[in-house]
Amino acid sequence: MIIVSISIILFNLFFIPPNQINPNLFIQNIQMTMNKFRSIEQIIPPPAPHWVGNAFRVHNFFPGLLEMKRMSPFFLLDYGAKIEFPPTDTPRGVGVHPHRGFETVTIAYHGKVAHHDSAGNSGVIGEGDVQWMTAASGVLHKEYHEKEWSKKGGLAQMAQIWVNLPAKYKMSAPHYQALKKEDFGRYRFPDRKAEVEVIAGSYRDIKGIANTFTPIEMYNVHLKSGAEVPFFFPANYNTGFLVIKGNVIINEKVIPTDHFVLFANDGTDIQLRTIEDAIVLVLSGEPINEPLFSYGPFVMNTKQEILEAYDDLNKGKFGYLED
Ligand code: MN
Repeated sequence: MIIVSISIILFNLFFIPPNQINPNLFIQNIQMTMNKFRSIEQIIPPPAPHWVGNAFRVHNFFPGLLEMKRMSPFFLLDYGAKIEFPPTDTPRGVGVHPHRGFETVTIAYHGKVAHHDSAGNSGVIGEGDVQWMTAASGVLHKEYHEKEWSKKGGLAQMAQIWVNLPAKYKMSAPHYQALKKEDFGRYRFPDRKAEVEVIAGSYRDIKGIANTFTPIEMYNVHLKSGAEVPFFFPANYNTGFLVIKGNVIINEKVIPTDHFVLFANDGTDIQLRTIEDAIVLVLSGEPINEPLFSYGPFVMNTKQEILEAYDDLNKGKFGYLED
């Protein structure tokens, strides 16, 4: 893109007689080359849901609907739109299962989730909290609605994102980050109409609290009616927004609640607007340009490594976790 624009400028410089060059146009061309709004590649309504265990009714936006590496470094987005659970004494959840080669990031918008893994980590995330589990070389874990919350029941809304790891980190040690809502850095706009909660990466001078292996931007953006929030990401960063609440406007198009908007890699800038209260999950990251082979709960580079993962699982190398 930049190369094409520069060659157009050079073409103009060399092939138009100097007395015909408009200096203002030249400067304008350069600015447009440096800063260009991204176009919308696709607006995706929530696909038909499926159940993960009996606790998580999720809409899978990708990889299902997109080419496997289209949102790299993000491999998977399972979104649990709002759903009401009746009270129960037996917490709903998904039992012990393995992961290897990536990280699971769980964001709770409503409801509470408890987590236990074979690396000895456990925790509960509530509204606005984030759980960032680096499975890497392998863990067993289980994810359940929290016990006391289950007894009362109520509204649940969540998202789980699988963040891929580059080959050199796939077999590093498992790690767990419990990120609490109150600890997130927040950029507040002077007009008080918007707030960017930085989970990972940075927004203006505010840094995220999650440690990541590759460059990742992840924010929850809270907007009030009339808010306008600008974003800038390098053009090669794969970028998508998930609308958690309200309807938002991007490039004069309305993106309704529960919809995912995928941006083309044809620019750097995005302007998010709304005329009602809204929440948007922002995902943007530098793609991992490596072969990718995924099967079930494993995301690796080759088929051989998937077979090794099953072999290691059967040999008990993922540790032990009680059901
Ligand atoms: Mn899991």
